[in-house]
Formats: sequence, structure tokens, C-alpha cells
Amino acid sequence: MNQKIEKLIKQFAKLPRVGNRAAVRIVLSLLQTRDGRAENLAAAILDATENVVPCNICGCLTDKSVGVCEFCRDTSRANGGLCVVRDMGDVWTLEKSSVFHGRYHIIGGLISGTAGTMPDDLNIANLSDRIKKENITEIIFALPNTVEGKTTQHYIMSVIGGGVRFSELASGVPLGGDLDYIDDGTLSLAFGGRRPL
Ligand SMILES: [Zn+2]
Repeated sequence: MNQKIEKLIKQFAKLPRVGNRAAVRIVLSLLQTRDGRAENLAAAILDATENVVPCNICGCLTDKSVGVCEFCRDTSRANGGLCVVRDMGDVWTLEKSSVFHGRYHIIGGLISGTAGTMPDDLNIANLSDRIKKENITEIIFALPNTVEGKTTQHYIMSVIGGGVRFSELASGVPLGGDLDYIDDGTLSLAFGGRRPL
């Protein structure tokens, strides 16, 4: 196979849920259909990677020119509720279901001995500051219901200590399940019936 094509297939195959077979189909489609889609794709990737950055405060992806995301700018979300999630995908899932109208905090991963992810690798250190500055009264954990999720949750609670209520999504979130696999109804029930910790 031509080296340039092989290189391109390898890049696509590295993407989540793509794999080699799908990567081959994508590359063939890009190279055989000369309608500008390849150029548009390349330009859109460059534009987004250069101009979208994590929010200075919460880690949600936002425009580089603004620096602070739509949720942190929205004063109607300054209602004391702060939802701790693993990544931006979880924020989009929660937003789509409209179950929460507060602020978010993306920690960017989970503490894991096997993966070698330590607390310092995560966006946890500025949480205590946020609680004071934004008058946060409740921290809602929407982390995966896994050993890593629970470990991370306990760690965050121990670092923050008292002065704020903690809760987690109620049962209905499948064990080991990620938020993006949960339908809106289940998520709504899990959020509404959240358990105090
Ligand atoms: Zn933000």
C-alpha cells in the first residue's frame, strides 16, 4: 500500500471507536470523493485544535479568544451547585438531558493505580478555591460508577473536607457505565434522586 495512504489510515484507526476497518473506509471515501470534504475536514480539525481550549475555571472546552466558558459566564448558573464530571462528553450528555442548571468541574480522568493516573494528573487542586469564590454549597459527583470513579470521589471529598454538601447520582447508572450510554430518562431519575454522601 502507498505509504501516504497507510499513514492516514493509521491516524484514523487511533481515534476512539474507529478501528482499522472503519479507518480504511474513511480514507477511501476521502481520497475517492473529491468534493472538498478532505480539505474541509483538515481545515476544521486545525481550526478547532488551535482555537478551542479548556476553560480557565472549570475545564469545559471553549473559544480561546474568550478563555472562560459559557457555563462559567452564565450568572443564572451561580446557584451553589457544582457537578464534578470526568470529561466534556459528560457535560454534553448532562446538558442534553437538561437535568442540571449549575456549574461544572471537569477533572479530566480518574485516579487509577493500573493506568498510573495520580491525583496530581487531574484538575482537582483548584476545586477548594472555586467552592469559596463561587459560594458552592453542593458538590454533585457524576463520575462513572466504577472502582476508579469511587476512589476519585473519596479522594476529592477528603481533600475538600467539610463546609459543603456532597451527593452522587442515584442508582440507575449502570455499574461501570459511562454517562454517554445512559438515556435521558435514566439520567434524569439518577440526578433527581441523588444520594447525599
Ligand atoms: Zn468554565
